[in-house]
Amino acid sequence: MKIFVDEMFRNISRWLRIFGVSNFYLKGFKDKEIINLVRNNDGVLITSDKKLCLSLRRNCVFLKPSSLERELAFLSISLGISYSLNPSLCPICGDKLIVVSYSPPDVPPKVRKFVKKFYFCSSCKKSFWKGRHWEKIQKTYNRVMKIIEGSARNNKS
Ligand SMILES: [Zn+2]
Repeated sequence: MKIFVDEMFRNISRWLRIFGVSNFYLKGFKDKEIINLVRNNDGVLITSDKKLCLSLRRNCVFLKPSSLERELAFLSISLGISYSLNPSLCPICGDKLIVVSYSPPDVPPKVRKFVKKFYFCSSCKKSFWKGRHWEKIQKTYNRVMKIIEGSARNNKS
């Protein structure tokens, strides 16, 4: 399933990639172009544009803006996608990340001292690593998982 993310959800597009879910971020497209693109790929659009969602019907998930964690939990449930905490996609462009053990040139020296594993995007020429921000990512992941588990429990009873 090809996932398209409407322009207003840039943050969601990035977070989906951080959690290993590939998606196409739609920036600067007209509604008509979006409809054609999503339909031709039999994809699904994530948007909070009601009109656009109505035109796409089953090819759309209407995302009501709420907290980041609730939004991500809702998307996992409604799209049937699971998240992982293993960096595999570039959060910026969505391309596959390559694991490298040498320090790519854009890594600051003080990071090189402590980090031995890097994730490199050959499209953006950018490197990522599990630095201090990784803790925040883990916390967000855990909170999202809790909401998903909670809603699964509610559905059973
Ligand atoms: Zn990239």
